[in-house]
Amino acid sequence: MLVTLSSVLAKARRGRYAVGAFNINNLETLQSVIAAAEAERAPVVVQTSEGAIEYAGMEELGLLTHLAALRSRCPVVFHLDHGKNTDLVVKAIQSGYYTSVMFDGSSLPYEENVATTKRIVKLAHAKRVSVEAELGAIAGIEDFVSVEERDAHLTDPTQAKEFVKRTGIDALAIAIGTSHGAFKFKHESRLDFARLKKITELVSVPLVLHGASGVPAAIKAQCTKYGCEIAAAKGVSDSSIKKAVGLGIRKVNVDTDLRIAFDAGIRKFLHDKPGVIDPREILKPARELMTKVVRQKMKLLGCAGKA
Ligand SMILES: [Zn+2]
Repeated sequence: MLVTLSSVLAKARRGRYAVGAFNINNLETLQSVIAAAEAERAPVVVQTSEGAIEYAGMEELGLLTHLAALRSRCPVVFHLDHGKNTDLVVKAIQSGYYTSVMFDGSSLPYEENVATTKRIVKLAHAKRVSVEAELGAIAGIEDFVSVEERDAHLTDPTQAKEFVKRTGIDALAIAIGTSHGAFKFKHESRLDFARLKKITELVSVPLVLHGASGVPAAIKAQCTKYGCEIAAAKGVSDSSIKKAVGLGIRKVNVDTDLRIAFDAGIRKFLHDKPGVIDPREILKPARELMTKVVRQKMKLLGCAGKA
């Protein structure tokens, strides 16, 4: 069934767990995420970035997800990830496909971020669409989002409280030291848990963690074994994610780990079966590996069994 982000996060808050938000770009990635939700009986956020929309089309991804959600017994949120282009965010709200959108005004001057977010919230709530916004800037590169390390800054707790109050958003993405993309850290990840604790105390809406992929060792090993050059990739440890959920994170975005899994599946298959040219055969192991990674995330976040 298709539901709003605010309903799923309200339940997560009561149960003190987090819901996974997974980026999809095509039929196979959507199938992977939905299969994992079914297997784990978990609520799930299926999300599309601006890049995914450019790649596959808003209507195409919207219709596929709606069909999958209607057939599923799990609550499915269809969410726009990192909407930076306000015209696109408005289009997503009015499309009837999305039950949630993220407006990312984190690169705007503060007052402009407040004003634009507030305007988006008004439009969205009139259509029963939830809104996630971002304060602070998360480092790293992913799709159309690129923030240099020197431009990244962590979320200020007092400003976050004011931002939520003034905009009326349903969820807030915060910067506490995570990073987008596969090459997150030079050393071990170090999240600012004291800051997270303070934000949880002050802010009234559920909090969202971006740039939180873990780069699982086994998947990375399979990738690199078959030629992928991501030896230096490093993610956020499972224990850090668990701690963040314990301190009030209620939605965790995962994209990089899914990309790595898909890549690993394809590379291994093409190496092992050089005689096969059927795209269905080539994509099947990639889809299965991605489902495995999504299931692991759902268990880690505590949303498994909560559908
Ligand atoms: Zn993000």
